[in-house]
Amino acid sequence: MPQHTDQYIGGAWRPALTADSLPVLDPATEQVLATVPAGGPADVDAAVRAARAAARGWGATTPAQRLAPLTRLRDGLAAAQEEIASTVVAELGCPIGFATAVQAGLPLAVADSYLGILAGYEFQERTGNSTVFAEPVGVVAAITPWNYPLHQIVAKVVPALAAGCTVVLKPAEDTPLVARLFARLVHGAGFPAGVFNLVTGLGPVAGAALAGHPDVDLVSFTGSTAVGRTVAETAGRGIKRVALELGGKSANVVLPGADLARAVNVNVGNVFANSGQTCSAWTRLLVHQDQYEEAVAIAAKAAAKYVPGDPADPATRIGPVVSAAQRERVRGHIRGALAEGARLVAGGPEAPEGLDTGFYVRPTVLADVTPGMAAAQEEIFGPVLSILGYRDEEHALEIANGTRYGLAGGVWAADEDTAVAFARRMDTGQVDINGGRFNPLAPFGGWKGSGLGRELGRHGLEEFLQPKSLQF
Ligand code: NAD
Repeated sequence: MPQHTDQYIGGAWRPALTADSLPVLDPATEQVLATVPAGGPADVDAAVRAARAAARGWGATTPAQRLAPLTRLRDGLAAAQEEIASTVVAELGCPIGFATAVQAGLPLAVADSYLGILAGYEFQERTGNSTVFAEPVGVVAAITPWNYPLHQIVAKVVPALAAGCTVVLKPAEDTPLVARLFARLVHGAGFPAGVFNLVTGLGPVAGAALAGHPDVDLVSFTGSTAVGRTVAETAGRGIKRVALELGGKSANVVLPGADLARAVNVNVGNVFANSGQTCSAWTRLLVHQDQYEEAVAIAAKAAAKYVPGDPADPATRIGPVVSAAQRERVRGHIRGALAEGARLVAGGPEAPEGLDTGFYVRPTVLADVTPGMAAAQEEIFGPVLSILGYRDEEHALEIANGTRYGLAGGVWAADEDTAVAFARRMDTGQVDINGGRFNPLAPFGGWKGSGLGRELGRHGLEEFLQPKSLQF
């Protein structure tokens, strides 16, 4: 079992300054895969200093000079696709098919997109008697979660580097191995020392030290709303910029006249992908009351095709959740929903048959969920779909907008114009119309309690830029 004792700081792997270590578990077997350093404030301080020392030089490079190592990083991600997928299978328990297509494929697509955006971006513009320069913000603290561990790293680090910022990354404690792999690829791409730094460690220790470090200029955080609030408070005290990608409770609204079977089947796949650990998952399916029982029956049939199993087996569609704590949280939510009066259509709070070892949860569908229930309001972050009925469009809109979140959503209708008109009234950051595909060029981020700022595309680059106007 590998016992890593180093952090990537100032262009080299250096012995950790804190002796503590963290175990990395395989969620399918509960066995320890490796250990990594549990970095403390001293490690964070060394990393921030390295990033600060590199900031002026990297910030003064031309886009073309930044494109060269970023292109090599993109090529490194392409060459490492298999290793990335197998690492995410091991430490997240994500099924190999999804890990290959999404956990490895999406970061590559995002890195690719930024090569094009950087090449075409105007870093200065003339307005009146001013030239406005888009300058890098400086030293970026990137704090990421475990559910799409490499995607969330790439969605922050690549645009930050493209903008001319330097970065200290603190990845989630459950998935540090793919972060170490990424650091290896950054190293191989030949960035100047200190432009990218990695400190593994616990959130309340290393993450808090990083978010509060006086020499960090911007904190880009993806994770839970509760921790996001703490990070924003800390950043506020230091007058640091902050970007927050938080939780969601997204609604998928099927309007009368839509292809009900397709909408429900896509929704079930959407919510069970990655064991339901997707911030933008459509965890609330809203169907007209006249079609309610039909939708429930379609969902039950679709759910039966998701049998939890070994994530390394290519036939497996759903693996475990990430940790024992997450498994207990999700099962607790299912029990709570049943106690509140929800009807169990598929799954349930018990361990799936024959899977007493591993952090498995039964893929669960709940019917008769009403808008006030926890199952309609709280982010469960597991494979649990809540089905709600509505009377008419206005009622559907009221339910869709009736949570503290606003991250994503779906609308299905007989025609695009009807769906777009409805989607325009939803209080949320992105909506897929009749199953529209994910677009890595589109801004991704939340309204309301789902966050501040945007990732991906041009908007994602601009998070890491600040204007400076010269009058002449
Ligand atoms: P989390 O908030 O517990 O942890 C996220 C990161 O923050 C981890 O790296 C963790 O170590 C760190 N952290 C924890 N406490 C900290 C503190 N006090 N100070 C600084 N850093 C700290 O979230 P999680 O359980 O890892 O991830 C799941 C959550 O992330 C879900 O709520 C999900 O919706 C959300 N998420 C949102 C998006 C999005 O783009 N909106 C994407 C993925 C996940």
